[in-house]
Amino acid sequence: DEGQPPMLRLDSVTAGYGGFNILHGVSLEVRRSEIVSVLGPNGSGKSTVFKAVYGLIPVRSGEVRLGDADISKSGPQELLRDGVAMVPQLSTVFPEMSVRDNLELGMYLVRDRKLVKQRVDDVFDLFPRLSERRNQHAGLLSGGERRALEIGRSLMLDPKLVLMDEPSVGLSPILVKEVFEQLRELRDNAGITFLLIEQNARSALSMSDWGYVIERGRVTFSGTGQDLLGDEEVRRAFLGD
Ligand code: ADP
Ligand code: MG
Repeated sequence: DEGQPPMLRLDSVTAGYGGFNILHGVSLEVRRSEIVSVLGPNGSGKSTVFKAVYGLIPVRSGEVRLGDADISKSGPQELLRDGVAMVPQLSTVFPEMSVRDNLELGMYLVRDRKLVKQRVDDVFDLFPRLSERRNQHAGLLSGGERRALEIGRSLMLDPKLVLMDEPSVGLSPILVKEVFEQLRELRDNAGITFLLIEQNARSALSMSDWGYVIERGRVTFSGTGQDLLGDEEVRRAFLGD
């Protein structure tokens, strides 16, 4: 990987809402096939980082790059086409639709039925529990299975980078472990790159290649997952030590 540009790079990004800036020059990097976690208190601007990257709000100054390309002005459709998927903070599963139909929604723009079927089968290979429930209403899934379905749907277009806003929110500790295990496998076996926002700081850092702490719209700490787990200040502020 030496010499290649990082998968994603933010350089002094400023963004916000209306007359206010929330992000004050955020710089961060996500290297290929790594899991990178973003931690920080509520309201510190973590979701705003994702919205700026995904073109849901404008980047007011600074730059966002995907590999060699400047994506500072790209919107969600362009990013999907460029291989970037996002799993938002709030659940987007349709409970009255089957598990399979929910997955197919991840490719609603694609008309090639054979390709869609192939991708559905690929996702079912990755998530056997979803496969067993493929014809059930998604509303009957457990919390963990539902999150797996959202993750699976984000993989339908075969992304290289997935942004996940609090994938473990509302899940029991056992399910959190399961979801994280799935992400780790996807990184190791499919080479997918993940940028995650996580409240579950300790578990997230223990599987992360790199971590960033964001406070009041600025990066205040960064380092390997192990560095952050060992840092006194980070431990006191974010890990409940
Ligand atoms: P986090 O994800 O770290 O909890 P957010 O990025 O969601 O924080 O929010 C950062 C700040 O931006 C907060 O003060 C929040 O109130 C504000 N904010 C978030 N979304 C909007 C919005 N749509 N309009 C105005 N302010 C917003
Ligand atoms: Mg948030």
